[in-house]
Amino acid sequence: MVDFSLDKHQQEIVEKYRDFTKRWIIPNRMKYDELAEFPWDIVKAAYDEKIINGAIPKELGGNGFNIFESALASEEFGYGCTGIGICIDATTLALTPTFLSATEEQKKKIYGEMIEKKAVAAYALTEPDAGSDVQGIKSTAIKHGDKYILNGQKRFITNADVAEYITVFALSDPERGSRSLSAFIIKANTPGITMVSRMDKMGQRASVQNEIKFENVEIPADSLIGREGEGFLIAMRTFDRTRTGVAAAAIGNARSAYEYSKKWAKNRIQFGHPITVLEGVSFMLADMATEIEAAKMLVWEAAWAFDTKQRSMSKLSAMSKYFATDVAMRVTTNAVQIMGGEGYSKEHPVEKMMRDAKLSQIYEGTNQVNRLVVSKNILK
Ligand SMILES: Cc1cc2nc3c(=O)[nH]c(=O)nc-3n(C[C@H](O)[C@H](O)[C@H](O)COP(=O)(O)OP(=O)(O)OC[C@H]3O[C@@H](n4cnc5c(N)ncnc54)[C@H](O)[C@@H]3O)c2cc1C
Repeated sequence: MVDFSLDKHQQEIVEKYRDFTKRWIIPNRMKYDELAEFPWDIVKAAYDEKIINGAIPKELGGNGFNIFESALASEEFGYGCTGIGICIDATTLALTPTFLSATEEQKKKIYGEMIEKKAVAAYALTEPDAGSDVQGIKSTAIKHGDKYILNGQKRFITNADVAEYITVFALSDPERGSRSLSAFIIKANTPGITMVSRMDKMGQRASVQNEIKFENVEIPADSLIGREGEGFLIAMRTFDRTRTGVAAAAIGNARSAYEYSKKWAKNRIQFGHPITVLEGVSFMLADMATEIEAAKMLVWEAAWAFDTKQRSMSKLSAMSKYFATDVAMRVTTNAVQIMGGEGYSKEHPVEKMMRDAKLSQIYEGTNQVNRLVVSKNILK
């Protein structure tokens, strides 16, 4: 029999993350949205309460979450604020290549330092001329003796100017093109690295992004993750693991907007009745509730399939990412619509939720690119 209920351990995860979100994220989300500053106090508190680095194995200082448990956690962060949530979850994205392909020695050193310093990390794949087209990456990391020399430019990198470590993807043999794409994990303060500019953006404003320049950056040979030429595979396997997290956070955002607008609508009297007696409003709420439920079931299935290794992970994680983030865009837009002028006002959080939802459709592969992953899978 299929069972859609959470067991005791899973419920405890939800309660723990929900409680943290209630105490730390919800009271501060409008402030960080306004300031567009990295929420260090919240990240440090997440370390103190051990709710960061969920996916890192327990013996290395993390929570040892599987993909399903990580999704439960991300949904709660997303319920509070996807911008603040991504400040925490971007570190998971950045450390996943290490988790997948680094040696035990590398993992011990890097995770140990990250946890001791209560630090965050960044994942640097995108370049000015290589967004959706990862195979267009031009940055190079050429081996010279016991070092690699890194040159190039990255764009839109989350956590970049606050990171302790950066996972960088670069070509180790430009003549072989993307077949030589390799992954490296490097200290962000290595000479030759310049954070060019911070992005000013529409939503998820608590998270920070930079353009990064690498000019003759000397990095030790043991910065390489896995082997030379494995970079593309490592990047794609990373997304297979993390896209369900983006989807889950989007569901949290949608649930938050739905609950807020529903509560408001029940108390809004027009034409002598609460507006929820009007089908134009109540059907909108019905669609919002239904779509959130459907998206959640897809995320749960993708996460379950991953953890039990029973199905194609790329297909389901891509499906869940674009479906849930599209649902979040529709639900948050409808939440603003239901609340009329109030919805558009910064006195309420739904306009922020709508701005935040837009970004989830763009990063970790745009929703068009995720549809491409699904169509390739179902047509092969
Ligand atoms: C706030 C923010 C945070 C980010 N954080 C990170 C990060 O931490 N690390 C990182 O490496 N990157 C990060 N990114 C980059 C993000 O992953 C890219 O923006 C995204 O992959 C799209 O690339 P692009 O912006 O160059 O758009 P483009 O690739 O130029 O796409 C433009 C349009 O063309 C469409 N398109 C492109 N190719 C296809 C195709 N084959 N089929 C159909 N449609 C297509 C796209 O869907 C889009 O609509 C971030 C971006 C933003 C905005």
